[in-house]
Amino acid sequence: MIDSYKHKGMRKILVNELREKGISNERVLEAFYNVPRHFFLDRIFEKQAYSNMAFRIGANQTISHPYTVVFQTQLLEIKKGEKVLEIGTGSGFQTAVLCELGAKVFSIERQRELYLKAKPLLYKLGYKPTLKYGDGYKGWEVFAPFDKIIITCGAPYIPEDLIKQLKVGGKMVIPVGEGEEQEMVFIVKKDENGECDIYNKGVFKFVPMLKNIEK
Ligand code: SAH
Repeated sequence: MIDSYKHKGMRKILVNELREKGISNERVLEAFYNVPRHFFLDRIFEKQAYSNMAFRIGANQTISHPYTVVFQTQLLEIKKGEKVLEIGTGSGFQTAVLCELGAKVFSIERQRELYLKAKPLLYKLGYKPTLKYGDGYKGWEVFAPFDKIIITCGAPYIPEDLIKQLKVGGKMVIPVGEGEEQEMVFIVKKDENGECDIYNKGVFKFVPMLKNIEK
């Protein structure tokens, strides 16, 4: 795997595009710049890896648009050392961006094929997230509570277990909606009872958050 000057140059142009589209957190843009997105895509997409597009990554799933990745990441205001739970490892690209921000990342993927692909790739690139093949609706109780939670698939509703596993004062970003489009919902947990402030942050498109583990 080669990350050439050409790849870096294309990445720089894409980062400028993201800045123009309103992403202003330079730490997030730098983290995005540091991850070679073409490593996370099939070779046939290598040339297009640095356009603002989603791509198929196998098992009928897609890697999120660059804008969506930085938009969700920016909302979470991640600080070094924070515990972040990600639902939907997919290609592992978003996981890598979270690691670049210095977070302790825990990520769950329900397609075994994708989990088995993302794990060695992330480790080869030097990232050290904790990964599992499992059902994101349940969160990851043993490592809870989390400072931040990011869901990268469209959820039909906000799973209660995820709210439970969020720290008081913690933030969560989750696309909610069962149709073609989802509302990006941003949540701040206010107290132990699970009382939350909820904000809508615009319309996005995600693959669905599915129930039942595939055997
Ligand atoms: N963050 C990923 C985006 C992948 S698309 C990336 O950067 O590439 C969303 C992913 O969520 C898919 O891989 C899909 O298999 C996964 N997913 C769907 N339902 C899930 C569930 N219930 N638990 C965990 N992952 C799920």
